[in-house]
Amino acid sequence: MKRWPDLKLGKTWRNRSATEVQPKTGTGIHWNMKAAILSSPSSILQRPLLVSEVEVPRPGPGQVLLRVRACGVCRTDLHIVEGEVKGELPPRQERLIPGHQIVGEVVEGATAELPVGSRVGVCWLGGTDGTCFFCQRGMENLCDSPTFTGYSVSGGYTEFAVARADFVFPLPPALTDLQAAPLLCAGIIGFRSLRVAGVEPGERVGLFGFGASAHLAISVLHAWKCDVYVATRGASHRQFATSLGATWVGGEAEKPPVELDRAVTFAPSGDVVVAALGSLRKGGVVAINAIHLDRMPEFDYDRLLWGERQLRSVANMTRADARDFLQLAAQIGLQPKVTVFPLDQVNDALIAVKNDAIDGAAVIAP
Ligand SMILES: [Zn+2]
Ligand SMILES: [Zn+2]
Repeated sequence: MKRWPDLKLGKTWRNRSATEVQPKTGTGIHWNMKAAILSSPSSILQRPLLVSEVEVPRPGPGQVLLRVRACGVCRTDLHIVEGEVKGELPPRQERLIPGHQIVGEVVEGATAELPVGSRVGVCWLGGTDGTCFFCQRGMENLCDSPTFTGYSVSGGYTEFAVARADFVFPLPPALTDLQAAPLLCAGIIGFRSLRVAGVEPGERVGLFGFGASAHLAISVLHAWKCDVYVATRGASHRQFATSLGATWVGGEAEKPPVELDRAVTFAPSGDVVVAALGSLRKGGVVAINAIHLDRMPEFDYDRLLWGERQLRSVANMTRADARDFLQLAAQIGLQPKVTVFPLDQVNDALIAVKNDAIDGAAVIAP
């Protein structure tokens, strides 16, 4: 196995600030890294993530070790940190490093396809079994035994992270580290939502809620020559949607002035889903991009679903979604709006996400 001193150290590597060398008998040289550790989930206002020194993880067979260059902050991270993730997700680790939108550089475990120094992205779907009913039918997003980055395995709120080599994605050079990070969950999931909704070029598409995911989806929709109708709460999110070229912008309970072909809901609210259904033409589709909804209210089938309107949920992502979306993002020059936080301020980043205090996406730069 390669040891650290054998590595070809790049400039950025040598410039790392928070590394210590700790010789340990019998195991060669180990390095420490700074990482945001979650030991006990609680309200983010209690700042449950503790930035401390831990040993750099060792890549196992089929894994790469990445030097983290940036890690996007997702609302799911907030739910994990606050202990609100439930449902099908497996129990989390006892001491967890969250973060599942990792931009990293391969430093160990390199392969012919992923030489040392390759810049790659890591997503929420950190691995699948490849053998279950769903994996074998091209639906790996529904895998029965998935690995989730930053939840069932440690993630990217740190300086180094390991990932499965077959679940990392080379990043197009056109995307900077900070701009690539929010693409890796918010972007890919938004893109998958558009696919699940069946969006065709030139259609009228509604985005209900306008956070990190929607602000990337709108650029994809514009590249597809779609008209975008945005219903969202918060004056600043509405202004943001207007500045990104939405055809119409309204409050979350307001109805767009035309019947929509498709709609994607991003808010964890069943009322919003019903509002989206109420805005559809016959044969239209609503894709729900939310792991949990507060509740699903009763609604009038005759008026809202009859006429072959469809309601679909969006679960996770496939590697094909990631590859296709990253390529498209580079092609169309997708420019996410990012607010950068240093690793030491990771709790503040999550507080900002909780308070909807930033437009676009938050990114941690270790
Ligand atoms: Zn996410
Ligand atoms: Zn599977």
